[in-house]
Amino acid sequence: NKSLRPAIIAGNWKMNKLSMDTMSFFYDLKPLIKEAKCDVVVCVPFTDIATAAVASKGAKCKLGAQNCHFEPKGAFTGEVSVDMLRDAQVEYVIIGHSERRQYFAETDETVNKKLKAALAGGLIPILCVGESLEQRENGETLALLESQIKKAYEGIDAKDAKKIVVAYEPIWAIGTGKTATADEAEEAIAHIRGVLASLYGDTAQNISILYGGSMNAKNAAELVAKPNIDGGLIGGASLVVDDFVTIINAAS
Ligand code: PGA
Repeated sequence: NKSLRPAIIAGNWKMNKLSMDTMSFFYDLKPLIKEAKCDVVVCVPFTDIATAAVASKGAKCKLGAQNCHFEPKGAFTGEVSVDMLRDAQVEYVIIGHSERRQYFAETDETVNKKLKAALAGGLIPILCVGESLEQRENGETLALLESQIKKAYEGIDAKDAKKIVVAYEPIWAIGTGKTATADEAEEAIAHIRGVLASLYGDTAQNISILYGGSMNAKNAAELVAKPNIDGGLIGGASLVVDDFVTIINAAS
């Protein structure tokens, strides 16, 4: 029952946009999302957060970051803590994106630590899971998702589990223009909800699970119409205001 959880459209800008682009993006976005019925989140690069916080003031959207460190403070050159993000008016943080797992050595264990740190510090995590093409072709998708979810939530109680937003992002669909079909996405996401139900019972019905991977203005409506798909994590199409707004309206 979808009314038990919020619909969410979250943009993931990845390593794109300078401060001028950030300003004009929110200037254009603001009037277009006044009537949005879903929650709107924009996850910007660290260097754009301060600009985005000012430019998005009064807009019906929340700010997110794309990563955080799990240690509270200290000698961790180049890292950004949960407190720093909160201080900068960030409310959401993407954790365990496949690009971070692939290129920056993030593991299920660091993902678990980051989830706990984000929850303890009052950020809403957007936890990413998803299989590679090879894993899909080998029929390992559902087992992999189960393992990623169980390891991510280790030691997290139901009260906190409810706060985490999950994004199912098949790696083969990210940035490739090759979207999972609505049925493929629904199957994987229903499976994830089943794993969460095995851990947390009925609480699984309150957890928003998004689809991500070449979701765009054309395919968003079909995806979010599925019974278990509660929104999207949008990369490329979140960089363009008109496309992002079309997706938001599809989920509203
Ligand atoms: P994409 O990225 O929409 O550009 O495929 C999605 C993501 O990686 O979050």
